[in-house]
Amino acid sequence: MALRVEQDIFGIRQRGREVTAAVGLEHQDQVRFATALSEVARDLLRMADGADVSFVAVTELDGRRFLSVDLAPLRPLPGNRYEPQSGAVARLVDTLGLAEVAGDTVVRMSRRVPAAAAALTPARLAELGTTAQASALDELATQNGQLIAALDEVRSQRDELAVLNAELEETNRGVMALYTQLSEELEETNRGVVALYAELDEKSAQLRAASESKSRFLANVSHELRAPVTAIIGLGRLLTDSGSDPLTAEQAQQIELIRSSAADLLSLVNDLLDLAKAESGRIEPEWAEVDLRAVFGQLRGTLRALVLRSEVALLVEEPPPGTVLRSDEVLLAQVLRNLLHNAVKFTDRGEVRMRAERAADRILIRVSDTGPGIPAELHERIFEEFYQVPGTSRRSGTGLGLPYARRLVALLGGTLSLTSEPGRGSSFTVDLPVAGV
Ligand code: ADP
Repeated sequence: MALRVEQDIFGIRQRGREVTAAVGLEHQDQVRFATALSEVARDLLRMADGADVSFVAVTELDGRRFLSVDLAPLRPLPGNRYEPQSGAVARLVDTLGLAEVAGDTVVRMSRRVPAAAAALTPARLAELGTTAQASALDELATQNGQLIAALDEVRSQRDELAVLNAELEETNRGVMALYTQLSEELEETNRGVVALYAELDEKSAQLRAASESKSRFLANVSHELRAPVTAIIGLGRLLTDSGSDPLTAEQAQQIELIRSSAADLLSLVNDLLDLAKAESGRIEPEWAEVDLRAVFGQLRGTLRALVLRSEVALLVEEPPPGTVLRSDEVLLAQVLRNLLHNAVKFTDRGEVRMRAERAADRILIRVSDTGPGIPAELHERIFEEFYQVPGTSRRSGTGLGLPYARRLVALLGGTLSLTSEPGRGSSFTVDLPVAGV
């Protein structure tokens, strides 16, 4: 087709639409291609006084099929370059640029066509070429119709967008409301938690104060009691002394009762005093290198006399060589004596055994027995002051030994724990750091 005057542009555009329809492009794509074609034709009319326009039958490239239109300018393009006047034109087709055809430079535009496109044979092209050319006015009317359709589509898209926006706004409002509600609830909860903490703080302060006054009371009372109780014991001894006036058998028995009750009372008072001292932090360990062999040896000697029943063997195993730790020998011996004392007291037959072992930077000392054992639910309770497992109180005692022992072990930087089952004996473990505190 010859492009020489403004009018020709309409004809070329119309042909563009017909050809793209013939190869099976969709309506939208037909309009795109025809629009690009008319824009390029307008450019070439201005830049090169016109062109010869040829529609190239569908070509295959890499298995894909393309429809191309070549526009051969009448005069060389300035600078031998072509840029469409309107930048958007290139986006309407797949490729738009210069190409060489038989030594001449042409502007070529092409568009991929569907694989199932009807073959655009030269015969079919020739057929298209003979259809009567519509007048410029007709083409203008068609173009107007297309413009109106495009405008309509834009409007409907805009309406759709407006609906979407409204929905989005609605959702946003919902999310904001939810967010506000959540943060209010969170704030409310926070206020509650803060109040709770304040109350908790207050309660712990009260508890601390109560515990301090209890310790002070115990320390004072037991201190004050010690002197008279000691006096009672001394007086009892005086009365039964061989130098005193002879007593009747009845009197001697009663005085013996007074003495043994007073001795029990003294031991309770002493225990209370110890515990009160430990609780008030008035016990300061004297740190030194402690060799466990020495401690064990001493305990072995002093406790042998305790075991009155031949059915019970007291075995204090020799600690492995070099079982040395930084601790307070007196306090440690006190704890172990207490545990051994209990074990012997509650065991009727079998053995009481103490052994030490080293585990990395700690030393574990275990006192185990073949006694009655302690139910799991009481494992913590026996460390409470005055608590005694029901049925064992007849063996005399105050229920203060274990809480005191646990406090001392804590002062030495360790822990005192128990594994036991009724009928299978008990095993108390003192776990101490080798390096002390
Ligand atoms: P106490 O021995 O003066 O009663 P403790 O505080 O030393 O007080 O012990 C608390 C309670 O724990 C004891 O009364 C006893 O019921 C229980 N108990 C302690 N050691 C053993 C043990 N080796 N075997 C069984 N029961 C034990």
